[in-house]
Amino acid sequence: MSPAKTLKRAALLRAAAIPSVDRLLKSRPLAPLLEQHGHTRVTAALRARLTQLRTAAVAGRLEAAAVTAEAVAVALIERLDTGPTALQPLFNLTGTVLHTNLGRALLPEAAVRAVVTALTSPVDLELDVASGKRGERDARAARLLCELTGAEAATVVNNNAAAVMLVLSVLAARREVLVSRGELIEIGGSFRLPDIMRRAGARLTEVGTTNRTHLADYSNALGPRTALLLKVHTSNYAISGFTASVPLARLVALGRAHEVPVAVDLGSGSLTDLTRWRLPAEPTVREALAAGADLVTFSGDKLLGGPQAGLIVGRADLIRRLRSDPLKRALRVSKLTLAALEAVLSLYREPELLAQRLPTLRLLVRPEDEMRAQAARLRPCLERALGSGYAVAAVPLASQIGSGALPVEQLSSHGLAIRAVKGGGGSLTRLAAALRALPRPVLGRLADKTLWLDLRCLESADEAAFATQLEALAPGALA
Ligand SMILES: *Cc1c(COP(=O)(O)O)cnc(C)c1O
Repeated sequence: MSPAKTLKRAALLRAAAIPSVDRLLKSRPLAPLLEQHGHTRVTAALRARLTQLRTAAVAGRLEAAAVTAEAVAVALIERLDTGPTALQPLFNLTGTVLHTNLGRALLPEAAVRAVVTALTSPVDLELDVASGKRGERDARAARLLCELTGAEAATVVNNNAAAVMLVLSVLAARREVLVSRGELIEIGGSFRLPDIMRRAGARLTEVGTTNRTHLADYSNALGPRTALLLKVHTSNYAISGFTASVPLARLVALGRAHEVPVAVDLGSGSLTDLTRWRLPAEPTVREALAAGADLVTFSGDKLLGGPQAGLIVGRADLIRRLRSDPLKRALRVSKLTLAALEAVLSLYREPELLAQRLPTLRLLVRPEDEMRAQAARLRPCLERALGSGYAVAAVPLASQIGSGALPVEQLSSHGLAIRAVKGGGGSLTRLAAALRALPRPVLGRLADKTLWLDLRCLESADEAAFATQLEALAPGALA
C-alpha cells in the first residue's frame, strides 16, 4: 500500500472509533457470552467481528451504531450459535428405509438407554463380575447371537466389511479363495470384493460365469492352495434369465470332502424369517448355518436394525482363530456399539413384539392405510405452504428396504407427488433445496419431473413437527 493510502486508512479507522478487544471483553454486554462460551472462543469470534468492522470502516460503509458493545454482542451471539456442531436430524422421505447416507437403522429406546448407561458409568465391558476375572468384550453379544442363530460361536467387529476382511486375512492370506463370477459384488462406499480380497492378501480365483456357475466350476478350481470357498449374497443386484448358482448345501458338501471351510457373506442377512410379517423373504443367518456354512458374516445396521457392526458367527475353532488375530484387536467395537447391539439382540428373543419395538421392522411393516391417511392429511398442508406454483397429489408409491437388502423387491407405500405447474413459476430443484434448508431438512426423491415424498419413514409421532415446519417455507424461495 502506498504511504498516502496507509495514512488515509489509519484516519478512517480512527474516525470509526472501533473499541479495542480488551475494552469490549470487559464490557457488560459481553459478560454473559464469556460466561456461556469462555474466553478463548469469545475472543476469537470478537477478533473476527472487529476485522469485519475495520474492513467496513475503510470502505466507508461503517455505521456508528455497529461499534457499540451492545451491537458487537448481538453480532457475536449469531457467530457463536452457528458453525459445525452435531449430526443434524432430518426427515427421510426418500422411500429408502435403510439409507446408508442417512445413517441406516434407527435404534430402539432400549438401545438408547443401554448406550447412555455405558457412556455415563463404568460397566462390566471386559469383566466377569461373578468371578472377578477378565472377560471378552463381545462375550455377551456372542451368547445372544448363538442363541438366535444356532451358531457354535460368534464375534463382533466394526462393520461387515471388516468382518469379511478379517475372515479373509486370517483364513486365506497368501492362499486362494474361490468365488463365483456372479457374486463379485461392489457395495456403495467402495466395498469391492476383489479389492478387499487383495488387501487381505488372499488370491481371488473366479469360477463359473456371470450368469451361471455350477458345482463342477468350484470342484475343478479347487486345489491344494485353496483356503476357502466364499459365497456372497448379491445384495444390491439380481441376475435373472438363464441363470444357475450352486446351493449352499452342495458347496458345503464339496468343502467338507476337501476339508476346505465355506464362508458366506450374507450382507444384510436377517435374524428372523421376514415372511412372518408378510415381507419378502431374505436369507436368514440360521438357514445359512443350518445348510452347513462354517462362517457367516453380516451387518449390524442393515435389516438387523442395530448399530453399525460386523457380526461373524460359526464354527468355534474358526472364531477362536479370528479372535486371537491382531487384526481383530484393530477392528474391535466400542462399548457403545456393544451396549446398543446387546439391547437390540435381546429384542429378538421376544419375536412377537419385535415389530412394535424395533424401528427398522416397524417402518418396514407400516400399514398401507396409515400411510394413505397420512398422505391425505398432509396434502392440504403442502398445498398451502407451496402456493400456486406447484401441484400436490397424494399417490401410491413403492419404497425400498435399502442397504442391499432385497434389491428387486419393493414395498407398497404412500406419499406425495409434487410437480411444478406449467407457467406457474415453480421449480422443483429450488423446492428441493428449500426443503433441505428447513430447520429439520426434508429429503425426498427427485425423478421424472416430480419431487416424491414417501411417507413410510414419517412416523405419526413426527407428523405434527413435519407439518408445522412447512409453514416456515418462505414463499419467496419457491416461486
Ligand atoms: C453391505 C454389505 C457389505 C458391507 O457391510 P458394511 O456393514 O456396510 O460394512 C458387505 N457385503 C455385503 C454382501 C453387503 O451387502
